[in-house]
Amino acid sequence: MPLTHYLDLSRYYAKRLSIFILFFLYASLSYAELVIQVEFSDGTSEGFNDPTSVAAVGGNTATTLGGQRRAALNAAIAILEKTLSSTQPIEITATFSNLGGGSHDALLASAGTNTLHFDFDHAPYPSTYYVAALANKLAQQDLDPDQADIFADFNADIDSNGTLGDSSWYYGLDGHPSGTDIDFMSVALHELLHGLGFISLVDVTTGKKFSGRNDIFSYFLDRLNATPSAFNDMTNKQRISAATATGFLHWIGDTTQINSSVLTAGVTGTRVHIYAPDPIEEGSSLSHFSDTLAPNNLMEPTYTEAHHSLGIAAAVLSDIGWGNLADLSVTLKNQETTPVMQQAFTLDFSIRNLGEQTANSVVFHYKLPSGLSLTNSTPGQGSCSTTDDELVCSLGAITTQQTIHILLTTQATNAQTIALNASVSGDIVDGDIANNTLANTLMINNNQQINNNNDTPVETRFGSGTMHWIVLIELCGFAIMRQFFVRRSFKIY
Ligand SMILES: [Zn+2]
Repeated sequence: MPLTHYLDLSRYYAKRLSIFILFFLYASLSYAELVIQVEFSDGTSEGFNDPTSVAAVGGNTATTLGGQRRAALNAAIAILEKTLSSTQPIEITATFSNLGGGSHDALLASAGTNTLHFDFDHAPYPSTYYVAALANKLAQQDLDPDQADIFADFNADIDSNGTLGDSSWYYGLDGHPSGTDIDFMSVALHELLHGLGFISLVDVTTGKKFSGRNDIFSYFLDRLNATPSAFNDMTNKQRISAATATGFLHWIGDTTQINSSVLTAGVTGTRVHIYAPDPIEEGSSLSHFSDTLAPNNLMEPTYTEAHHSLGIAAAVLSDIGWGNLADLSVTLKNQETTPVMQQAFTLDFSIRNLGEQTANSVVFHYKLPSGLSLTNSTPGQGSCSTTDDELVCSLGAITTQQTIHILLTTQATNAQTIALNASVSGDIVDGDIANNTLANTLMINNNQQINNNNDTPVETRFGSGTMHWIVLIELCGFAIMRQFFVRRSFKIY
């Protein structure tokens, strides 16, 4: 039996993490398939079991209020199951409660981990707290089999008149709430991410670490230009100060930094800003991204619009230990045939997912080079279309370690050096974006006899290819020329 330490937080955290809506603020506020099991703990005829008849909405065809609530939560859970991996199922208890609220602001929901664990088998950092779901994944066992990993409680009063005015929960599955209604799926995703570890355990009012230990989320908080800069290394007093250092408290995990270029605001260099308002907002400070992020993201402290994607928060989950989520790469297979001007030849692009998770909505871009016409494109899956200067292939989902080939039949007008540029992206956070782009050069031969007479002795080819020889020296230099002699072929690097 491994040494397992945990703390029961179900009461301590019952209301700690929350998402608020502020209507007067119009500003924007593994390989192992993961299984998430949810237990709806409401009483008969309440909350997730409410039998009130309702009309279908936004693709949610359940016929009762409780049924639509369950379907919407399950749809949010399905997004997480597609994004994360763990050999250990995650157990969630979900309820609706009357959490009240005014006509302009209200608590939408709260959620968190039921237990915290440290120094379990395979724990990446010593004496450091991890939420239950993540600790179970890393330990590859259920460290606390007697209770659920995450609790989530949603405010039933949002559906009653008065609370948030006319606004109600939107239980549609399409992310298009009408009017001022609030997208339940988005709020559920937000809350569950807190339960999966998007949370600092530091008490923002005292600066104290929870039970005197580090937590893995706070490990990646850093105050720019401070000494010490690492949040976990600070004194309590320094942490209190850092928690209100608006714009200077940043996330410094590697995966988030290499993906932060998706943001146009709320970043300093590659460092994404953490929510650090002055004065402190208990329950919101530290455990969210800054509300200045653009485009808006799921894990900002205030609900503003529907988000059915984890956004840059997926990179944070990767940093804290959820693993390399997905890693798309594009390569061009070495060509063993010599591209010859005015003869068709094939470019074979390989799109591979090197990560641990499925990459969704993958798109391949290939810039159409001048001097090289494209006569046919054959993707291994999905479809391709061309614009003025680009081939775009929508490939759909690429599972872990899967490779999709895209074969392009091309033909060059003249002997020349052609620049090839391609890229691949997806609706994912990518573990390594350096391999998402490709820039190669391609030598086009002008000696049409080379391909036509493969058995012709080398001497003969050169005898009839004097002009080509000269062109090669000019274009390609000695290394390629030598390769030409020996192998009668060019590689594309
Ligand atoms: Zn939150």
